[in-house]
Amino acid sequence: MTSTDCIFCSIVAGGIPADVVWQSDTLLAFRDINPLAQTHVLIIPRSHHRDVVELAAAEPQRVAEIAAAAREVATLDGRDDFKLLFNTGPGAGQTVFHAHAHVIAGERLRGSSSTESVPA
Ligand code: 5GP
Ligand code: ZN
Repeated sequence: MTSTDCIFCSIVAGGIPADVVWQSDTLLAFRDINPLAQTHVLIIPRSHHRDVVELAAAEPQRVAEIAAAAREVATLDGRDDFKLLFNTGPGAGQTVFHAHAHVIAGERLRGSSSTESVPA
């Protein structure tokens, strides 16, 4: 399933350029256009689902693949440790309604769940 007015579906289709760092048959990983840390990569399924909960219901294997891909993406940037974050719903800061994981690393990060970063 794709959504014609979805920016991440456009990236999957190649209509909008992205700095792709890793990909598989089912997932795409590219650098966030507005990075919050030295490493800030988004991992998305190629298929359109509005958030991770809907993705997990429809394609549970994809969520496991995202966790494994996060490790690969972090390793490509030389990071051992990283945050893996799914903002879910507008009240939690979700702005793009195509399921995506943030992989964030490389700076000391404030709090255990925030995407806010502070200098190392
Ligand atoms: P959310 O706030 O929905 O969890 O995360 C959406 C993320 O997508 C934001 O961090 C934002 O910077 C990023 N983003 C939005 N549009 C684009 C784009 O066109 N290209 C890239 N690479 N990132 C984008
Ligand atoms: Zn989409």
